[in-house]
Amino acid sequence: GNRIVIKIGTSSLINPDGSLNRDSIQKLSDVLCELKMQGKEVVLVSSGAIGVGMGRVGLKDRPTTISGQQAVAAVGQGELIGIYERFFAKYQISVAQLLLTRDVLLFPQSKKNVSNAFQELLQMNVIPIVNENDTVSVDELDHETKFGDNDQLSAIVAKVIDADLLIMLSDIDGFYSANPNEDENAKLFSKVSRVDHSLINAAGGKGTKFGTGGMVTKLKAAKRILDNNQQMILANGSDPDIIFDILKGQDIGTWFTNT
Ligand code: ADP
Repeated sequence: GNRIVIKIGTSSLINPDGSLNRDSIQKLSDVLCELKMQGKEVVLVSSGAIGVGMGRVGLKDRPTTISGQQAVAAVGQGELIGIYERFFAKYQISVAQLLLTRDVLLFPQSKKNVSNAFQELLQMNVIPIVNENDTVSVDELDHETKFGDNDQLSAIVAKVIDADLLIMLSDIDGFYSANPNEDENAKLFSKVSRVDHSLINAAGGKGTKFGTGGMVTKLKAAKRILDNNQQMILANGSDPDIIFDILKGQDIGTWFTNT
């Protein structure tokens, strides 16, 4: 397939000290431009706004209140897009910023508008960069993930643009039978075709203070993908070149597919 959504997590973009890892953003941008030149249609869902904003306003820890996080995300978002824009400009490729909420699918008109906007952008050869619109996103229905859940948002984007593949990049090699940071016997699942309760029980929380949803939101995203007969792979984004290996069909990460 030609149409790919790539989601990169905060943990792959932020250094352990909280500063932004510009090298990994540059590396990711290089890979995405290469994919564009191969004729692929690429949409990027990028986290990291809160991490970038924390650095900007000099905070060591993530604000504890939702409004504090929303404020810091608003500071970081502009800088984050600016960084992507500069890296993509080297290739004469433009980026677009799309701030979406997870309820877009619920309203036929907004779904249609969003879908049309993506269509236009992809036709113009632009790389849309999506993030959750943190300032307005407070999900009353989903109590675990009121806000900042780009995992599920990336699955929603994959649905809206009818993507052939969602590539979810995190700081871990894939989905394990338990959190490998806590259980040394944890085993990597190489293929998952159904997300049920026993699987969700194996999913733990986020890995670092900069991470967001942990595995729970990634499994919720995977469930959406499988329900729509689409495909997702969860893999380690520490080296973005892994995207080439994924597209070559190499046996890495965890594939969520029912085919
Ligand atoms: P990101 O910022 O990439 O979204 P998160 O920190 O939110 O990353 O989620 C990834 C983390 O989820 C891993 O680093 C790991 O610590 C944790 N985790 C919990 N349960 C599991 C599991 N069953 N398999 C893999 N990782 C898990």
